[in-house]
Amino acid sequence: MIGYFPYRTPKWLQSLFPSFIWSQPTPEKVLYLTFDDGPVPEATPMVLDYLNQYEAKATFFCVGDNVTRYPELIRQVVDDGHTVGNHTFHHLDGWKTTKQDFMLDVKMCQQVLDQYYQCDGKPLMRPPYGRLKRAQWKTLNQQFQIVMWNVLSGDFSKKIDASTCLKQSIRYSQSGSVVLFHDSIKTIDKLKSVLPNFLRHFSQLGFKFQRL
Ligand SMILES: [Zn+2]
Repeated sequence: MIGYFPYRTPKWLQSLFPSFIWSQPTPEKVLYLTFDDGPVPEATPMVLDYLNQYEAKATFFCVGDNVTRYPELIRQVVDDGHTVGNHTFHHLDGWKTTKQDFMLDVKMCQQVLDQYYQCDGKPLMRPPYGRLKRAQWKTLNQQFQIVMWNVLSGDFSKKIDASTCLKQSIRYSQSGSVVLFHDSIKTIDKLKSVLPNFLRHFSQLGFKFQRL
């Protein structure tokens, strides 16, 4: 079983699951920002605005239930040129869900996403909380490109404030990093200050922000 680790995902964990995307090593100054749990009207439009200001492309791991509720938001994400990935329909915790139920929920989410977004290759999938049981990822691996992260911003954590979140996200991000944020009601207050500052910091250093 696998799950969250603080800030930087340890290399030994990454090496246990080499078929997952943890980062995209590159000699160029590129960062891959990812946003989980949306789309929601309280957060996603603001995130899109900030990304547009910096001509940044990102990857949104969407909850199917939210996509169904807010079709105009998912259209906006796609129209702005971002990548969309599967985050299950009900944001299920793989550790607490049978393989059958989990796969069904992933499928439901994909059916909704397919209405709005055309994948080039295998669709992308990120398990909620990064939690999967062995049987789940064995099966998912055949149909999806599983995407994890190597930098956790901690934007969801009540234990850290916005300035710590920003400082740590900057400290651990480097070329090719996949950075995890959330476009959600719980995180948007923090993200309001963290995201524009993060984008400004790395833009000034010559970084580009690309989608997966
Ligand atoms: Zn999530």
